[in-house]
Amino acid sequence: MKKVLVLGGTGDAVKLAAKLATIPEIEVISSLAGRTKKPAALVGQVRIGGFGGAEGLANYLQENSIDILIDATHPCAGQITHNGAIASHIANISHLMLVRPQWERVTGDNWIEVESVESAAKAIPESVNRIFITSGRQQLEPFLQRSHIYPKTWYLMRSIDLPDVELPNSKMLLDRGPFSLEQERKLLRDYQIQAIVSKNSGGNATYAKIIAARELAIPIMMVQRPVMPEGEKVTSIEEAISWLQKL
Ligand code: NAP
Repeated sequence: MKKVLVLGGTGDAVKLAAKLATIPEIEVISSLAGRTKKPAALVGQVRIGGFGGAEGLANYLQENSIDILIDATHPCAGQITHNGAIASHIANISHLMLVRPQWERVTGDNWIEVESVESAAKAIPESVNRIFITSGRQQLEPFLQRSHIYPKTWYLMRSIDLPDVELPNSKMLLDRGPFSLEQERKLLRDYQIQAIVSKNSGGNATYAKIIAARELAIPIMMVQRPVMPEGEKVTSIEEAISWLQKL
């Protein structure tokens, strides 16, 4: 029997845990940061909350006799991914990062690529008054700052849970992907969106907004992914399962 810890918080991690649970010689534990009030249902054991840095994670791996660590966190969750790489090295266990390919710009896309959500807020042209924020409810401060400078700006914000920071002159949509192209086209039109803020999440679940923006010639402030640590990586659940079976 091998014990696998999956660092989660993504749809891929949910699917991976469900797959692993069907393999008889695998015991799967999923780990969530605890950000979402009602996380998607997970097959297998679940633990919730931070570990206390890389050392805390290494202790957890050792104390719970984890054999394999699979990091299936969001590609923009840079800290936990670095912690996973360090902790698996300390605990001397196998480590894999499941990283879905990033979206690539195609003809017709009007992306302004930025390093962070802060840079995204600064990069939005002054003339833009209606902004759709899809970069998460945790990083709204930069838009609060922007709204002090441009008080007429109106924000549409979409996330699974309510944010802690409330933006003035804004509307909140509580929703969880996947979103269809039809839905995204309608939303961008209905709210007369002039710019979108997105992270380069990759995957299909939230790609429809990228297509809809292309069709409607709406610019996207595209927040780039942080640099990943060295180590073994795969891009799909199927590849992760094959990697595991070769150990
Ligand atoms: P982060 O900046 O990389 O991590 C911050 C801290 O949160 C970590 O140091 C760790 O605390 C804790 N943490 C993060 N993921 C964890 C997990 N799966 N299990 C246990 N502890 C975890 O991460 P983040 O950007 O805040 O994202 C938090 C979670 O939301 C991630 O699990 C990620 O998959 C998910 N998520 C993130 C985004 C995004 O855009 N960043 C989007 C969708 C989903 P300790 O140091 O105390 O261990």
